[in-house]
Amino acid sequence: MSGSGHKIKVVCRVRPFLKTETPDESVSVESDRVLRATNPRDSTKDTRFKQVSLGLQRFDACYGPTVGQDVIYKNDVRPLVETVFSGMSATVFCYGVTGAGKTHTIQGTEADPGIIPRALEQIFRHQARDAVDYDIRVSYFEIYKEAVFDLLKPREATAALPIREDASRRIFVAGLSEKKVASYEQFAGLYQRACGNRRTASTKLNNHSSRSHAILTVSVQWKDDISAGKMWRGKLHLIDLAGSEDNRRTENGRDRMAESSAINRSLFVLGQVVEALNTGATRIPYRDSKMTRILQDSLGGDSLGMMIVNVSPGEGFLQDTHNTLGFATRSREVVNKPVAHEVVEQRWTAADRLQHHRGAALPART
Ligand code: ADP
Ligand code: MG
Repeated sequence: MSGSGHKIKVVCRVRPFLKTETPDESVSVESDRVLRATNPRDSTKDTRFKQVSLGLQRFDACYGPTVGQDVIYKNDVRPLVETVFSGMSATVFCYGVTGAGKTHTIQGTEADPGIIPRALEQIFRHQARDAVDYDIRVSYFEIYKEAVFDLLKPREATAALPIREDASRRIFVAGLSEKKVASYEQFAGLYQRACGNRRTASTKLNNHSSRSHAILTVSVQWKDDISAGKMWRGKLHLIDLAGSEDNRRTENGRDRMAESSAINRSLFVLGQVVEALNTGATRIPYRDSKMTRILQDSLGGDSLGMMIVNVSPGEGFLQDTHNTLGFATRSREVVNKPVAHEVVEQRWTAADRLQHHRGAALPART
């Protein structure tokens, strides 16, 4: 695999106006790469300047309100999911304020499925096509107020899970369940039940707003049939981030404020991690939040990444839209170096690795 840098792809999606909203022209998709938003400061202070000051933001792709789930999947997600079958990691995450369309994009509805069901369908289709015996497993967890909870277990049965580092310095969530899935239907049932375990609360902005980050990981592992004994693993992380809104607008109670500050902080750290990676800083503050620690391999590590920036149209969201786009510009420059993962544990004994640790070369074991 080449060691050349790959940027995290940044794609913008503007949702359509809802039936309850009055359409206006404050946000529009000008071309397939440019989003146009009026300047909120000018528009609130002086209506004469409303259409004069424009914010223009370039993306790898920019999708307007009429673009369907299938198009986004086919253009941007499908190629990424395919890399899992060459032993790589790939991550897709949705960033934006509550109500901007994150859950619609990553999860979707039964009538209009989003990235998660489409990705799993693709993985199982690939499995049916290949003669390889793929071991497909999923885990699903959320980070709520900086605590990690297993979503594959009933909500009342779960305590917060600790984050640990393994012998090869990979970060993992200790005690997180991982379920083997044999078919798409089996996955769909599991996923539906797991979604019911998410922590949701009512805020002024959205009745079922997500106040947690939800991370679905699909791991695909298989044995190399050319050199027997060699195991490969590809991983796909599909992430629905908590709302990035400025909580001064949501008029939250004290509990909701505590949630909001945890959310704002973790997204702020995510922004800082992104910025540190952009500028080639020697210290990347992954450890400053649970999410960035867990996402360490997916941001600037050895994984391919894509951020979907979800934007609500309408003047009422303009300040949020500008804040969201500011985050997107920073993430645009993150450089990832993709490498294929080999599961070394399957190839060498503990004694081999101890010798290796002391400086000896690992013996060839095929
Ligand atoms: P978020 O997860 O960012 O809070 P949602 O995904 O729940 O936002 O979207 C808010 C509302 O907008 C929902 O009613 C959803 O069905 C609708 N919506 C979002 N994006 C789209 C879209 N691309 N097409 C149609 N409806 C959408
Ligand atoms: Mg949501």
